[in-house]
Amino acid sequence: MSNTFNPYDNYLEVMERAAKMLGLAPNDYVALKQPERELKVSVPVEMDDGRIQVFEGYRVQHSSSRGPCKGGLRYHQDVNIDEVKALAAWMSLKCAVVNIPYGGGKGAVKVDPSKLSVHELKNLTRRYTAMILPLIGPERDIPAPDVGTNAEVMGWIMDTYSMFMGYTVPGIVTGKPLDIGGSLGRREATGRGVMFVVREYLHRKGIPMIGTRVAVQGMGNVGGTAAQLLSNEGCRIVAASDVSGGLYNPKGLKISEIVAHLSTRGNKLSDFEQAGAKHITNEELLACDTDILLPAALENQITAQNAAKIKASIIVEGANGPTTAEADAILEQMGKKVVPDVLANAGGVVVSYFEWVQNIQSLMWDEEEINRNLEKIMIRAFNEVWEATTSHDTTMRMGAYMVAIGRITKAKKIRGVFP
Ligand code: GLU
Repeated sequence: MSNTFNPYDNYLEVMERAAKMLGLAPNDYVALKQPERELKVSVPVEMDDGRIQVFEGYRVQHSSSRGPCKGGLRYHQDVNIDEVKALAAWMSLKCAVVNIPYGGGKGAVKVDPSKLSVHELKNLTRRYTAMILPLIGPERDIPAPDVGTNAEVMGWIMDTYSMFMGYTVPGIVTGKPLDIGGSLGRREATGRGVMFVVREYLHRKGIPMIGTRVAVQGMGNVGGTAAQLLSNEGCRIVAASDVSGGLYNPKGLKISEIVAHLSTRGNKLSDFEQAGAKHITNEELLACDTDILLPAALENQITAQNAAKIKASIIVEGANGPTTAEADAILEQMGKKVVPDVLANAGGVVVSYFEWVQNIQSLMWDEEEINRNLEKIMIRAFNEVWEATTSHDTTMRMGAYMVAIGRITKAKKIRGVFP
């Protein structure tokens, strides 16, 4: 990620444009320009060799107007406060787009989790949880997995929080292991949501899924699941990548083999061979010959430098913030269609919401019910965004932002300004 790029500026620019398009007065949305709360913590960890290493961590709450703050916890060596602020703001919008009763938040620790032992990661997670304790709670702010974290990390957060409370509090995090109150279908939910959104989009355009070519940047939880489900629906996954690089096969990659290879910790795509597939770089993947490009890695991947090289006519944002505002303008000029992150990757937080509801009610839904409800919510959100987009003759990003900002500012207006 370049040092000059500020994702929070990206958020502000798009948010203000959408607010103006909605005809809102500055008073209506001024409070959305900064997070409600920001906490920075220094997290000491006793490493396996006896050294004490201090990691920088954050938790940002952007908005609680529509309910408790909700959003993931990211472990990545390059995170900074502006990125976490942007990710928190995008969570407010995302929860509003799919109309679930949450605001937005996000947390992060500046660490490369692949460099830590499991023991060190556990200690880091427990201490970080203790340090953000005043901010979190099942009615306040509910973390979940994001880049670099997983169900195991959520389990440690749940246990740590519960130890402080003196009783078990499953609803403090979502994306937990099943055995301690996690939800069926949560791990696949973001990728499944991406698949539903692609399906709805193609349906609107009268394009069959069968044979539609897809290139996936990032074969983590989101990209890996989406690739698998899209391939099950008949799409041809022509390219896939991880941080080490990608594979390209115009006839279609065998996705299950790739997902199986990457499921072992430490395995990389650059070490993997498949008949008919050649190795490409991530830059080459973005520019490859495909119908749909699915960036599902980090923010700031499609930039003013590479946007013009994109051949895909449809970009579906599995990652949060993969396209800069400048690149967005270039793509629009080129007639490319972007299905924005706050809609495309909202499936994860939707099933997080189901998990939280199940925890509060102390009951478990079966997987079929979860996937059916997820599908219903994703289709409803897609239709609402589509309606806002077409009625304002604008991009789907603007459409999604208008739906979200309309809902958040309405909640703010009804509640009023305290005191
Ligand atoms: N980290 C995911 C996201 O960016 C999930 C958040 C959640 O489930 O709370 O949407």
